[in-house]
Order: sequence, then C-alpha cells, then structure tokens
Amino acid sequence: MPTDCLFREDSYLQACDARVVALTEQGGIVLDRTVFYATSGGQPGDTGALVAPDGRRVPVETAVYTDQAKTEIAHVPAAGAPALAPGDTVTVEIDWDRRYARMRMHTALHLLSAALPFPVTGGSVGDADGRLDFDIPEAGLDKDAITAELARMVAQNASVTSRWISDAELEANPGLVKTMSVKPPMGNGRVRLIEIEGLDLQPCGGTHVRATGEIGNVRVSAIEKKGKQNRRVRLAFA
Ligand SMILES: [Zn+2]
Repeated sequence: MPTDCLFREDSYLQACDARVVALTEQGGIVLDRTVFYATSGGQPGDTGALVAPDGRRVPVETAVYTDQAKTEIAHVPAAGAPALAPGDTVTVEIDWDRRYARMRMHTALHLLSAALPFPVTGGSVGDADGRLDFDIPEAGLDKDAITAELARMVAQNASVTSRWISDAELEANPGLVKTMSVKPPMGNGRVRLIEIEGLDLQPCGGTHVRATGEIGNVRVSAIEKKGKQNRRVRLAFA
C-alpha cells in the first residue's frame, strides 16, 4: 500500500499524525503517511519515534522502502520497542536536528555538482559531511577554489524549489540527469525536479533547504583519487 510521503512536498515537516496499516515480515511498521525520509539516493533514512496516544513510544532507527518503485515506507523500530498493530494511531516525529543537517549537506552537494560540471558516479550524505564521486579524467581540482565557489553560491541565498515532470519529459531531456549510478525513480509516470535558482536543475527525491543561505559555512575537506577516471570530493561543515 503506497505511503503518503509528506516530506516530498514539505521537507520542513517535523511531525504528523498517522495510522499503522501493516507490519512487514521483518517487523517494519508501515503507516498511511509519514514525515520520515526513507534511505535512498545516498541519503540515510531518518531517525525518530512513533508515539501512541497512551504514551507508548517506539524509537525508530531508520526508514526504508519496501518496494523497487519506492512507494511504500517501513519504519524500523529499535530492538525491544513496544509493539504496534494495524489500526493504531500514532504521532510520527523525526529527529529534526539530524534531518536538518542532512538537508543542508544534501543541498550543498547540489551546489558542488554545479561547481564541478562533470558526470557524478556516486555520493552520500552524512550528518556533518558528505561526498560526491566525479568522472574526471584529469585532476587539477583545487580545494580552496571550490570552497570559495560554494561560499559564493551560499551567499547568493538562491531559492530551492521542486516541481514534477512526466517520465516522457525527462526522457526528452537526458542532460538533466547528472548522476550515472543513481537513476531517478521512473515508472511512476512522473519525476521530481529540484531547481536551485540560476545554479542547478536535476531530478532528485531527497530533502533540501528552501534557500542556499541556510547551508551556512561548508568547505571541501578532501579530494581523493578513486581510480584513473574518478575523484571523490568530500564536504564538511566549517
Ligand atoms: Zn537533492
């Protein structure tokens, strides 16, 4: 049963009410709606809790998709957490400080992909750091120059917006896809585009801040050689 993924329309939602609709064989809790981002595209699933009206609190260690098409989310409870059953109503709460840090870092990685206009082969978002792997034949990358370029884009406070386009529109514009390893989720008929005004436009299902100024101070902490054709660029909050 598809989960109503509230974080896709509003990544700033920290809580919502929901109803348990199913339990997976692994013990994952499926809700009718959620604010939990589920592990995808190099960004880890949120942590937080499900709280029943009687006060029972179920800590959630992560959230994952149960299907290839990424339509249903299971919340993975901590070991020994109180049991919930289909039909139970809960308040859904994410660990906001952690999520917000990931939103800032994730958006910073979009800026990094704009600063370095090369194909991206992978990436990951952490709580205090993140990285992208680029298909770059020759190095010559300068940490300080890239950091300065990121600072310029953060200072612009450019707005970050999302919109949906059809699969057919995306297929007609293959240049929108920068990430070679992580194809945008297609087959649902529509794809979510993230635009950073004047700086970046690409399909992405992740969570982002509203404007680049919220990213704050971020710097290139390392550039590593990962094979002949690959450079890993790491970011950290300053
Ligand atoms: Zn994104």
